[in-house]
Amino acid sequence: GDEMDPGDGQEEKIFVTVRVRPLNAKEIAKNDVSDWECVSNNTIIYKNVKALTERSMYPNAYTFDRVYGCDSTTRQVYEEGVKRIALSALNGFNSSVFAYGQTSSGKTYTMTGITQYAISDIFDHINQQDDREFVLKFSAIEIYNECVRDLLSADATPLRLLDDPEKGTIVDKLTEIHLEDWTHLMELLAVCEAQRKIGETSMNEMSSRSHQIIRLTIESSPSEVSGVGSASILAATVNFVDLAGSERASQTNSVGKRLKEGGHINRSLLTLGTVIRKLSKEPNGHIPYRDSKLTRILQNSLGGNAKTAIVCTLSPAHAHLEQSRNTLLFAVCAK
Ligand code: ADP
Ligand code: MG
Repeated sequence: GDEMDPGDGQEEKIFVTVRVRPLNAKEIAKNDVSDWECVSNNTIIYKNVKALTERSMYPNAYTFDRVYGCDSTTRQVYEEGVKRIALSALNGFNSSVFAYGQTSSGKTYTMTGITQYAISDIFDHINQQDDREFVLKFSAIEIYNECVRDLLSADATPLRLLDDPEKGTIVDKLTEIHLEDWTHLMELLAVCEAQRKIGETSMNEMSSRSHQIIRLTIESSPSEVSGVGSASILAATVNFVDLAGSERASQTNSVGKRLKEGGHINRSLLTLGTVIRKLSKEPNGHIPYRDSKLTRILQNSLGGNAKTAIVCTLSPAHAHLEQSRNTLLFAVCAK
């Protein structure tokens, strides 16, 4: 039983899952075949027969909290673990859900669904609970090339990070909107998507290089009908993080032509990897949160009492084998 009540206030391990998307039409047309098979609900194997004779430096079987094959649904990925972590913000625990993987492996597809399922559940929960009053605050951030941008503002001026003695790192002047209901959420998500697209036209490959954070802060206080014993004011933030393509963190691609493009290595992604590895392996050592914008912004939602889930997305194609293995190595380090 890894299952722990999110309300227990104890540190727990990062919940790590892997999801393989289906082969797409292009890959099928090229007669590519999937190398990966989920042999149980938590073990994925590399099944290419050649690998058995290949004396590879990589393991062929990997075990995580859950693994999802190409016939899985985002609803399943959400319900079987991510939900518990996302909803722990209702009990006053900060939390983060990440999608990590190479470009076109399904990060945005997966994270979009998870974000909507989670916020829908949060609405249901607060509508059912009449002993507390809830206020939801929505904000959205993009980090591109270590510049922080407000996805709810037309102003593209980079935002500064400030250190608040009580709140920790805050994003100065970030728009925070009081989230009313489901229709309002859809409107705000559409604004974010439009803002991301504007950036895209002026800079190729922006979506593969940038990180997006959708943040929801849940504040609650006892309502008038509540009796004695209701805890006082609670506030917690849940972050839905759609990361830059993980090829931006791979050492193997950092030499030669692509290095000249500049910004190939993504500082926020590399630092996140280090922070997550340290939280998992030596949580009492120095955690270098301050080395990147992403990890500074998420510091209060990573480690300590915060709850974290990572969905690592994989392309099934043989052509993407090397990146898939890098993604799995990241996932192994997070465990
Ligand atoms: P990324 O954000 O990692 O670059 P996307 O989420 O944009 O990748 O996915 C790339 C393409 O694959 C999109 O067209 C998306 O709709 C499709 N796709 C991704 N994951 C799945 C899935 N699990 N099932 C079906 N289609 C998927
Ligand atoms: Mg994407």
